[in-house]
Amino acid sequence: MQKLFLFLLGLVAIWYARRLWRRQDVDGQSSSRGEDGGRDVSPETMRECFHCGVLVPESEGLISGGEFFCSPEHARAAGRTS
Ligand SMILES: [Zn+2]
Repeated sequence: MQKLFLFLLGLVAIWYARRLWRRQDVDGQSSSRGEDGGRDVSPETMRECFHCGVLVPESEGLISGGEFFCSPEHARAAGRTS
């Protein structure tokens, strides 16, 4: 009886391990194809406005006098461009 139980346990363990292994394989393929290929856009660097301190994506702000600003108005307000 105990042998039968161990035998069944072994079968289940093998089945379960194969299932896990196969799923990992599929996941690895799909992630390497789907996510890496689709995610060309890297997370943008957020920078703090020198004047008001708000966090703005680097591409939306501007750099003036070596400092980062959220808008031309703030660059002017900080007296960097006048
Ligand atoms: Zn600002």
